[in-house]
Amino acid sequence: MKSMKLKTLIIISMLTLFFAACTKPAVEPVAPLDLKGSVTVKKKDGVKIHTYLSNSLQATHIIETEKSLVLVDAQFLVPFAKEFRAYADSLGKPIERVIISHGHPDHFFGLGAAFKDMEKKVYALKGTQQFIKKVGPVMLKNLGKKLGKAVPEELIVPTHVIEIGAATIDGVNYEFERFLNGEAQEQLLIKLPDLGILIVQDLAFNGLHLFMGNNTFDDWIVILESLQKIKNYDTVLVGHGKPGDTSIFATNIAYLKDVKRILATADNANAFKTQLLKKYPGLGGKRMIDISTPRLFKNQ
Ligand SMILES: [Zn+2]
Repeated sequence: MKSMKLKTLIIISMLTLFFAACTKPAVEPVAPLDLKGSVTVKKKDGVKIHTYLSNSLQATHIIETEKSLVLVDAQFLVPFAKEFRAYADSLGKPIERVIISHGHPDHFFGLGAAFKDMEKKVYALKGTQQFIKKVGPVMLKNLGKKLGKAVPEELIVPTHVIEIGAATIDGVNYEFERFLNGEAQEQLLIKLPDLGILIVQDLAFNGLHLFMGNNTFDDWIVILESLQKIKNYDTVLVGHGKPGDTSIFATNIAYLKDVKRILATADNANAFKTQLLKKYPGLGGKRMIDISTPRLFKNQ
């Protein structure tokens, strides 16, 4: 039963990737290892940005500089976390930091599967660190019951707090910003101003249905509108989907406005899902709807 659920998850993810593959890739794909997920690499000013997209649609990134690597998020399920780690190790440079963007399990669970030796190098916002410490054990237990061995046995809580503002790591300038009540309670935005790259993770999705479980759509739309106003960035790295450009903010805003409109009239989860799929027939990640609706409709 557990493996059936994992198989279903992977089949849905592969279908989604098929749809995603129909759009023009933002960067050139490469495959240095025999990967189940896919990797795209973007080179800019001597810095390489690697995006690993698992078959379960989680996108995690590596900023590769001359001497070291900075990783953003750690994947969800064990096989993909291990594959992401193997890919990072294949680059042959030490991991300087693993940055966790927010407190959803699909972004930090993989720490326990593949980054135990990095325990003292994991960074997150203060609220995210506290949330993972408090809620992480329950998440691990509950999702472990549903997904079995695909879920790591161990929880790693970020040890370092990211301070908002500017930082330089191995010669690359970073700017860290914090947003509240978007896709999650608290989320990190990473700007690489010299490279024109925004790492938004789940503040925006690319080519997929959005996770709607936080149910704070008005605030999320305001966040996306503020991201739209940021100038001099041409690449947007998300937590779900392929790298894109700043046009994805408008796409996400339109989607959330449709969600609000449909929610206002739909009596139950099925009616909501039917209308949303009718509006967005070609969008991948339909699983996002199913994992969101229990939080949007109390009586299903
Ligand atoms: Zn996510």
